[in-house]
Amino acid sequence: MNPDEFLSYLYRSRAEGCTRCQLHATRDKVVFGVGDADADLVLVGEGPGAEEDRLGEPFVGASGKILDGILRRVGLDRERPGLYICNVVKCRPPGNRDPEPEEQAACAPFLHTQLRIIRPRVIVTLGRVPGMYLTGQLDDDVTVGYLRNHLWEYANGVTGLRCPLVCTYHPSYVLRNLDSDPPQARTATIKMIADLEKALRVIDPSP
Ligand code: SF4
Repeated sequence: MNPDEFLSYLYRSRAEGCTRCQLHATRDKVVFGVGDADADLVLVGEGPGAEEDRLGEPFVGASGKILDGILRRVGLDRERPGLYICNVVKCRPPGNRDPEPEEQAACAPFLHTQLRIIRPRVIVTLGRVPGMYLTGQLDDDVTVGYLRNHLWEYANGVTGLRCPLVCTYHPSYVLRNLDSDPPQARTATIKMIADLEKALRVIDPSP
């Protein structure tokens, strides 16, 4: 099986009908992930929102449009090879609350298996929840500002995959500030672009 077939098999055989955690009861669609199964870069968000739940694709709502704009600024496009996008939990937490630790733990095998199949050269987390989860920094006072100031390593003892990991903001942070605090939204956008450029330098260090 090639990586694309393996991801499809994982989705159809395990994720599509999954009832491993309580989120299955309120979801419409399982939002497994989209993109290139051979991607050098994997973006990991927190969980699906309302639009994502309806359409079955990650980052297709208002914050997804912001993400697409930021990706274009660094030469990336979800429709082109090289990029895969998914979330820590594959089903929408009601009311867009943070996924509970036990929901993250129940869904984690899907994420780790996706990463093992894709074998990216770098991972970028979007927001506090995936940043904390994949770096193992679980203190309540951990902030995205702290996480984004380090170059982390994703190391999975079960799958054997190791690769650098960069943390940045979730595009919904930009969205929330667009009207209430435009300078803050602009600053967050600039920082997200810088973080993605840092990740891309891992793939291609040439200036
Ligand atoms: Fe299964 Fe993950 Fe959905 Fe929970 S969030 S029901 S573990 S696919």
